[in-house]
Amino acid sequence: MSAATEVDVVVVGAGVAGLVAALRARAAGASVLVLGKSSGASFAWSGSVDVADSLVGMVPGSAVAGLERGDAVEDAIVQTAGRLPRHPYARLGAARVNVRDALRFLVDAVPSLALSLRPDGKNHVLATALGTVKRGALVSRSQLLDLAELPSSAVVGVVEWRDLAGFNARPVSEMLRFCCGLGAGHRAPRFVDVVVPRVNGGEVFLDNAIFAAALDDDAERLRFLQALQLRLAAIDPAPTHLLMPAALGTRPLSKEALDDVDKKVGRPLRELLALPPSVPGRRLITALRDAATAAGVDVRDASVMAPVIEAGRVVSLEVQRGPERQQVRPRVVVLASGRFFGGGLVRDHEARESLFGLPVVVDGQPLGDRFIGSLTGDSVDGDHAIFRAGLAVDDALAPLDHSQRRVLDNVVCAGSVIGGFDPSRDGAALGVHVWTSWLAGSLAADAAKFSALGPGGQAQDLA
Ligand SMILES: Cc1cc2nc3c(=O)[nH]c(=O)nc-3n(C[C@H](O)[C@H](O)[C@H](O)COP(=O)(O)OP(=O)(O)OC[C@H]3O[C@@H](n4cnc5c(N)ncnc54)[C@H](O)[C@@H]3O)c2cc1C
Repeated sequence: MSAATEVDVVVVGAGVAGLVAALRARAAGASVLVLGKSSGASFAWSGSVDVADSLVGMVPGSAVAGLERGDAVEDAIVQTAGRLPRHPYARLGAARVNVRDALRFLVDAVPSLALSLRPDGKNHVLATALGTVKRGALVSRSQLLDLAELPSSAVVGVVEWRDLAGFNARPVSEMLRFCCGLGAGHRAPRFVDVVVPRVNGGEVFLDNAIFAAALDDDAERLRFLQALQLRLAAIDPAPTHLLMPAALGTRPLSKEALDDVDKKVGRPLRELLALPPSVPGRRLITALRDAATAAGVDVRDASVMAPVIEAGRVVSLEVQRGPERQQVRPRVVVLASGRFFGGGLVRDHEARESLFGLPVVVDGQPLGDRFIGSLTGDSVDGDHAIFRAGLAVDDALAPLDHSQRRVLDNVVCAGSVIGGFDPSRDGAALGVHVWTSWLAGSLAADAAKFSALGPGGQAQDLA
């Protein structure tokens, strides 16, 4: 085994949280090594960055509120902190630290996605591939069709490609019609189905990701768009806008490429918020990885294990890539290993964090070996405490033990590994992950400056 690599900041986890923390720590001058072993929840991301939503729970037992937009996102953050005292926005003082700065950091890190905030600071109102309507603070160029901005005369065509398995326009357009009719003060647009007959002579594409890979090819994309155009000529009333599954290529579409798509089909064609396997999730992670690499962050596909801890500090970690193993000596560790989906939390007998064995907490109580059924609600729409499970952290994002004491002095937590919020129910998901990881990157870089290892600089090559 070669000599241990010394690095200012080692980030465990290469999801959105790990990569944002890495970019921020690097921008603050630290040498940074990111280690991620597989795709986590970030790859399932729909395409909307949910930061806060004042309308969550407005319709009893449901998260739908028609085309209403709700309050400004920053006001909704304060409301979330007031409503949910254990939420990171409350615990870490979101009112004190500007979440908007963290979102700007993300927007600037991935210009190819053209993630946009609304000028009035409110949420976009977006359609999902299930036909539901949801609000999100940021969305990329190719998915931006704000339903609440459409004139009442708009006709939205939901595009079903017969070449793509698993997506039917009819239930989606029916559901959108229903959801958009909820709430007050808006006349919903009309929705029509646009079913495009088969174009591809071979097998059907089994999911969005495979279809998107086919549409990466300019000639293939043109073939499909021409088939759509032909079909549109027969649709009455003629759609003014189009929504399709998120599959317009695996890479983000440039403005010119999207303008070209619109020109070919004669109206705006945008993508629905995605279901897994999510192309937007892959686009975001690829863009973040590229940005991190360009900034001088060393990003590796590798597993981290066997931490050595001395006097409450992580002094070394073992890194495994294929058959190779190597020691890394970090000044500071950013733990961005996700929840159960990403492998950051495990439950074999007792629930625990998988690298350091930290306790997993639900609503202030250790999860331990408690029966999961006692932590779920009576209905799908109910309150499921298990989805808030994660690590307890102090206000410097350091993990805490059962007695609320800091256990590891040079570990900073970031993203979904932190507990206290339910990304699927609170109206705040990736926004919290981006904000905590942006904070974590800065805290880690600062802490690395004061730690006892030798001089900093670029991480040595692990290969
Ligand atoms: C189906 C679905 C839909 C979603 N839709 C939305 C949405 O519409 N809006 C929104 O805001 N959010 C949404 N989210 C939430 C959001 O996408 C994720 O929760 C978020 O991206 C999690 O980021 P993360 O980096 O904290 O964790 P993850 O993406 O899970 O990353 C954790 C990483 O840690 C790595 N790891 C773990 N242990 C180790 C180890 N020992 N060594 C090396 N690597 C390790 C894993 O391999 C993984 O790469 C959705 C999530 C899901 C599942």
